[in-house]
Amino acid sequence: MMDTIMGGKRRIDEESTMAGRKIGKQAIVIGAGMAGLAAAGAVADYFERVIVLERDRLPNQAVPRLGVPQSRHLHALIPGGQRALADLFPHFEQDLADASAVPLRMAGDIRAEIPGLGPLPSRDFGWLLYGASRPLIELTTRRQAESLANLTIRSRYRVLELTATPDGSMVTGVRCESADGQQQVLAADLVIDASGRGAPTLALLRWSGQPEPDEIVIGVDLHYTTATFVIPQDASTDWKGIATHPHAPERSRGGYMLPIEGGHWVLTLTGRRGEQPPAEPDGFMDYARRLETQTIYNAIKHAERQGSFERYANPASIWRRFDRLNSFPDGLVLIGDSICRFNPVYGHGMSVAAQEARLLSQLLKERATKADPLAGLARRFFSESLPLIEAPWNMSAVPDLVYPETRGERPADFESRLKYDGALLRTAMHDAAIHRLLSEVQQLLKPPGVLLDPAVDRPVQRELVQMAAE
Ligand SMILES: Cc1cc2nc3c(=O)[nH]c(=O)nc-3n(C[C@H](O)[C@H](O)[C@H](O)COP(=O)(O)OP(=O)(O)OC[C@H]3O[C@@H](n4cnc5c(N)ncnc54)[C@H](O)[C@@H]3O)c2cc1C
Repeated sequence: MMDTIMGGKRRIDEESTMAGRKIGKQAIVIGAGMAGLAAAGAVADYFERVIVLERDRLPNQAVPRLGVPQSRHLHALIPGGQRALADLFPHFEQDLADASAVPLRMAGDIRAEIPGLGPLPSRDFGWLLYGASRPLIELTTRRQAESLANLTIRSRYRVLELTATPDGSMVTGVRCESADGQQQVLAADLVIDASGRGAPTLALLRWSGQPEPDEIVIGVDLHYTTATFVIPQDASTDWKGIATHPHAPERSRGGYMLPIEGGHWVLTLTGRRGEQPPAEPDGFMDYARRLETQTIYNAIKHAERQGSFERYANPASIWRRFDRLNSFPDGLVLIGDSICRFNPVYGHGMSVAAQEARLLSQLLKERATKADPLAGLARRFFSESLPLIEAPWNMSAVPDLVYPETRGERPADFESRLKYDGALLRTAMHDAAIHRLLSEVQQLLKPPGVLLDPAVDRPVQRELVQMAAE
């Protein structure tokens, strides 16, 4: 089944290794989604050629495509991911702005409505988030990747399997099929599985009898319905985007709306289990009217809707613990959703993928002068990317697990964490510095450890005392 197309010894271009630059002839990336594009950009400096293989026909315009069904729904590229993409592709932010993405001042332009507390104060922290459709974010990233001279994106090429040494300990390339049914084996010094599900990697591990990763699952049973509206002339000038959070755990109705290119709002209504936002006009509007506040309903009630309603069901967040494996084939890494599929409502997936890609580039830079720079790369990558995944995973696990029906293991200190997070949010209402720090953590600009600082903990402890007295 698996081909052996290279010997056990990796081919390295000696001359370019010595120059401290190229460490291999060819890298292959499976998938031209956000993770694949970011990864291709990240490794391009270190290989003579990078080929991205994508099973879809890739559109020349910012329109949804089959292989990324989630692209019809609201996608917030939060600042931590935006910066990582800008580090990989220096023109990324400018090109996004030039393509009419909407600059949003954080946090002033986005109204965050918290049940029981009201909207968080409108404070300007001095950084921007660009409101754009997922297809525009992806197209802008793809154009950046395509501008690299040694990088090629082959559309309508499906990867059928990884090729490897007979014992599966080293990946040597991929077998792929073009749209006309022609099969081909492409050799690679490094294969990056950005297929979104990690299916090629899992198939190799299974076939070669190597251990597969444990999975941590949080069964969220989340439902999305999304619609696009023309922003009316008389839209509020107090905010440009809005998040109306659900009153958990009693109710799970949430509404999230961002302005995107073309003068549109994209509005995603969410619910869990039995609370499913309808995908027809009257039901959708009624659901919007019965969110925790009527801000979104009032904004859209006279707005012109464009296009159809789109649905998405997300049964579970899944984190495959590749970092816990004692062995993993050389010549292969995974990135993005192939490792961890987050609950999309917190908007972390694209940003974590971009930060992982930036990490991959840093690791290759460090290793470029080593004798065998790719040996053990994946295990190092899995362990160093752990904090990039762990922070957003924990941030979303606590609010997800607050619903009693959510499947997943609750940490021993779950109740006290929940209380602490509630007190932190209350403190952020009246303390601008803590609000800013909390936003930086939520938007993946800073690690959660910064919130352990006594300057944060002291006022939060005072808030906890106050809450206990109420
Ligand atoms: C409803 C929804 C809303 C979301 N909202 C947000 C948000 O607001 N903010 C955010 O940051 N993230 C959001 N996400 C997550 C985000 O979409 C992903 O985390 C991010 O796009 C990274 O995905 P990926 O590139 O790893 O995988 P994917 O997006 O799944 O891309 C995988 C690519 O690989 C291709 N492919 C698969 N198999 C093969 C094969 N065998 N051969 C060739 N090509 C192949 C596919 O066609 C596809 O193009 C959301 C997700 C969902 C489901």
